Amino acid sequence: MVELAEPVDVLVAGGGNAGLCAALSAQEAGARVLVLESAPRSHRGGNSRHTRNLRCMHAAPTEVMTEAYTEEEYLDDLLRVTGGTTNEALARLTIRGSAACTGWMQARGVRFQPALSGTLHLGRTNAFFLGGGKALLNAYYRAAEARGIAVLYDAEVEDVALGDHRFHAATVRHQGREHEVRAGALVAAAGGFEANLHWLREAWGAPAENFLIRGTPYNQGRLLRALLAQGVRQTGDARQCHAVAIDARAPKFDGGIVTRVDCVSLGIVVNRDGRRFYDEGEDFWPKRYAIWGRLVAEQPGQIAYAIIDRKAIGRFMPTVFAPLQAGSVGALAALLGLDPDVLEETVGAFNAAARPGCFDHTRLDDCRTEGLEPRKSHWARPLDTAPFYGYPLRPGITFTYLGVAVDERARVLMADDRPASNLFAAGEIMAGNVLGQGYLGGIGMTIGTVFGRIAGEEAAHACA
Ligand SMILES: Cc1cc2nc3c(=O)[nH]c(=O)nc-3n(C[C@H](O)[C@H](O)[C@H](O)COP(=O)(O)OP(=O)(O)OC[C@H]3O[C@@H](n4cnc5c(N)ncnc54)[C@H](O)[C@@H]3O)c2cc1C
Repeated sequence: MVELAEPVDVLVAGGGNAGLCAALSAQEAGARVLVLESAPRSHRGGNSRHTRNLRCMHAAPTEVMTEAYTEEEYLDDLLRVTGGTTNEALARLTIRGSAACTGWMQARGVRFQPALSGTLHLGRTNAFFLGGGKALLNAYYRAAEARGIAVLYDAEVEDVALGDHRFHAATVRHQGREHEVRAGALVAAAGGFEANLHWLREAWGAPAENFLIRGTPYNQGRLLRALLAQGVRQTGDARQCHAVAIDARAPKFDGGIVTRVDCVSLGIVVNRDGRRFYDEGEDFWPKRYAIWGRLVAEQPGQIAYAIIDRKAIGRFMPTVFAPLQAGSVGALAALLGLDPDVLEETVGAFNAAARPGCFDHTRLDDCRTEGLEPRKSHWARPLDTAPFYGYPLRPGITFTYLGVAVDERARVLMADDRPASNLFAAGEIMAGNVLGQGYLGGIGMTIGTVFGRIAGEEAAHACA
């Protein structure tokens, strides 16, 4: 039984990857630690429980990654996807820190798969958790329990009292009552605000009503808002986030990775007017999937439809929801609620523009359209072989980037740019320091692990 009135050294708000890394590090540095997690035990672990891998620099092949991935290459990759909107000092710190992640994690019970081969091309750069993020979180919670770290579920940090660049106390709602919890230091690891539909609407307007949230409904951004309201410096922009196109039939929250639809580059995508709006074959799918959430968000009604024919079947990751299927394009349009005449016209124009080529989905092949706007640059084969299939798509928000500014000791910066002495942040709540825009697969968990470890250790020292 956790007693909220009992004094603790380090309070950790949020029980996902970043929070658990912080809690374990703080305890190992000698602190008494309490983790406050707003979800019930069954839903602990936030977005982290949906993850599969993290991106790590390494100088030579390891047990879990092939070849080498240097600091400079990692940084180049990050600069490319963010268009340079990153704090380079913190980015380098994250990248250098990533080299020690897998060893540290294994020492705390996390297990990895052998290096992957296959179409994701991630076996060199990313280490995959055996059993996924859920198994990783279970390992961390087991380690926390064994070390005497207290965890309170159904405990939401609603507010914080800050003053003189110090954290003083947190207001926590638990079992319908508010409690004031004092501690020597606070680690804010409560995720982004992606599950807060009002905040999304503030940022995006009415289109936000049609967004689906791929992860936990508990990342409400309540602590983030409280910190910003108390004069913590903001980093990032409320509209920047990671968003992919997912099956429109997915649940509003927590659908996870299985709701992704990966057949876009094998067919065409139309909006609710039955018209194409973007080059579906611009580049390899793993390099393009993360732009499609935003592309669909910009379409009328925030809905789109991926259309393929029989030739595509077996060439993409199986989907959790079966596609709608029909013997003709017109019949498929009717099933999808599209105007059959318009969809037939769109498919007809696409088929007529598709140049004969040598189809090869493993390379940027020469199957492209000519004289069509927008063009399809690769893998453009006529949609001519029944049955035809369609998937409805919606924007699926993975996580938001607006957060609190931190320094290289994970200390939260106040509006005057001076760090708070006993207030730290890790994970999504500060990821925007490194990710101003764009995304590099696996870096979310790297940021959380590296900054979680730093924040935990620093928090323990701050209250020693
Ligand atoms: C479907 C999906 C797949 C993903 N796959 C990957 C991947 O393979 N690799 C990768 O690097 N990234 C991936 N990500 C992104 C990754 O999940 C995040 O970057 C990472 O989990 C962030 O960790 P975190 O600890 O900051 O947040 P979370 O894991 O979300 O943890 C935050 C926790 O804080 C709790 N909380 C929120 N507010 C409060 C409050 N006020 N008081 C107390 N507790 C609170 C929440 O309940 C939650 O448990 C994926 C995300 C999704 C949704």
